Amino acid sequence: MKVPWFENAKWYALVGGLAAVLALLAALQFESSRQLSHATTEQMLANLEGALMNLRGALESELTPLCRELQQSETESRDSSLPDYARGLERWRRAATHPGLVAGVYIWQPTSSQSPGFLRLNLQTNEFESAEWPSDLTRLRQRLQEMTPMHDGPRDHPPDHGGPHGESARDHERPPEFDLSSPGDAASPHPPEPATLGWMIDESVPVLVHPVMQADRGPNFTWVLVTLNFDLLRTHIFPELVQNYFGTQDRRTYDIAIVKASANTRRVIYSSNSGFGENAGVLPDAALNLFGPPMPVVGREHRPMQSLVSPDSHPQNPEQQAATLLPNLGPHDPEPFRIEPILYGPDDQGWEIIAQHRKGSVEAAVSTLFHRNLAFNFAVLLVLAATMGMIGLNSRRARRLAQLQMDFVASVSHELRTPLTGIVSAAQNISDGIIDDKSRMMRYGKVILNQAQQLSELIEQILLFSATEKDRHRYHLQSARVEELIDASLSNSSALIRSTGVTVERQIQPNLPPVMVDFKAFSQCLQNLIANAVKYGGEQRWLGIRASMEESGQHEKEIRIAVEDRGIGIGSDDLKHVFEPFFRSPVATSAQIHGSGLGLPLAKTITEAMGGRLTIESVPEQGSTFTVHLPVGNHTESSHV
Ligand code: ADP
Repeated sequence: MKVPWFENAKWYALVGGLAAVLALLAALQFESSRQLSHATTEQMLANLEGALMNLRGALESELTPLCRELQQSETESRDSSLPDYARGLERWRRAATHPGLVAGVYIWQPTSSQSPGFLRLNLQTNEFESAEWPSDLTRLRQRLQEMTPMHDGPRDHPPDHGGPHGESARDHERPPEFDLSSPGDAASPHPPEPATLGWMIDESVPVLVHPVMQADRGPNFTWVLVTLNFDLLRTHIFPELVQNYFGTQDRRTYDIAIVKASANTRRVIYSSNSGFGENAGVLPDAALNLFGPPMPVVGREHRPMQSLVSPDSHPQNPEQQAATLLPNLGPHDPEPFRIEPILYGPDDQGWEIIAQHRKGSVEAAVSTLFHRNLAFNFAVLLVLAATMGMIGLNSRRARRLAQLQMDFVASVSHELRTPLTGIVSAAQNISDGIIDDKSRMMRYGKVILNQAQQLSELIEQILLFSATEKDRHRYHLQSARVEELIDASLSNSSALIRSTGVTVERQIQPNLPPVMVDFKAFSQCLQNLIANAVKYGGEQRWLGIRASMEESGQHEKEIRIAVEDRGIGIGSDDLKHVFEPFFRSPVATSAQIHGSGLGLPLAKTITEAMGGRLTIESVPEQGSTFTVHLPVGNHTESSHV
């Protein structure tokens, strides 16, 4: 059966079209996945930045009540005094989540001639007492000195740097009283409000610093210093904040660290994962300064933080400095206070909170997701392509099978009709009484018998094929001599051979070992091959049947039974189809050689059921050789397959 060219063209066009659609789908899929992962990266970085901002805000909120209480101490009354600070601190402690956060409170009035200088709040007695400057505040003192507005202060009353810690000799002489509303403005018609300035932090201690400046009382410019418990920050407050905004250790997507960064180094103050943050060469996914105006660093572009009080970025005179220290929020403002970092040089970048995705980076995490999605999508497309291919092939095979079955019905009808016509016409002649002599009667009887046998063989063939196809046929294997098998097949085909005048050349190697076969089925297989050699043997009318033992591989032998003819042969196009059920070559049908297309498929199925195989060698116009290869069996017991 040949598929018409336009059918093939339609088929190839369909396959090509579907392949193009699939390629387009794959390209669209890739592009949309790429865009999606880009958007996901942006979104994740924005969320991360938001979480860092929240964390930063939460720390400001933690410190704001403390700052507010101490500021209220300044604003409660114009004559506020030192006890107000102690009371403010006490109020804060009662409400604070971490009352241990404050390690010490100091008051320093550097410019006043009447100032007692430097005072420390005794946390037991809640009283201020003269104190020496702690060594870790020496650098800060220097800075505050520079920042103190000099109305009539240092030039007229320079701060005393007498002691090694900078303490004034006067500090010890003055009683521990500290009047923030010092005289000097009594004549003023509008007594000034105590100016409330912003809060700063020197992270190296850490200490909160707050200037209290009464604009018209320059000499009484006062610094409030609150040292913080660094260990509490490191071991409790930072971990709690990180847990609140980034989840617990096992569920966290990001590693978080709080670091003090400078040009090339990073000192880790806190890290959610040991080792994270130490390598200054690895850029985090996001970084944000913990104090000062928020300066997010996203997209792996690390920008240095700036500080309003950075001496390099803001070379200021004292008035300007005071102006920059003006509060960004009032004491009753519910918003958290912004706390500015005090920086000591261009490289000093203050505390920074850095975050990095646990998969290396946000890009790496999204890229893994992108590749996984892509692989999944392409797998789906591949399955789709394979399914489409299979459906296409199956439909092609179904069409081919349908065509073969149509051909089969046509040829079987023909095969049935020919002997039936012979039988009917012979029987008609006999019943009409046309045949009167005995010898003619016998000839007619033979014709009827032959045609009936042909019919019965055909029906037998079809039933056998149907049984083998449904896998219902059971074979009874037993040891058989090759010679006997060949002779039985030739004898069963003798009528056909004789009627066509074909010469048979039989060649059997002596002493062949027996083979394990189902005798009846295997001789049917050989008969099919013999019948084909006769049918397609052409003018030569010659048939060869040979049996021999040959090597089939290393140390293995097999019996080969070859049925040969010198007939029409089989073209290479048809060769691959001859074992397909119902296949008949166009050469055979056009030469009007009868057949059902079931002989070879049956022969192949039977041979394989006996553990062998069937091969063909054929050259058009020269002839064909069909060879049955059977394994040599040592076993002699019979069995069923
Ligand atoms: P059929 O009943 O048509 O002979 P088979 O299954 O036995 O059915 O053979 C299938 C087809 O193989 C035949 O129609 C024929 O075209 C080809 N064929 C089989 N045997 C031979 C042969 N010995 N020489 C040439 N062609 C053959």
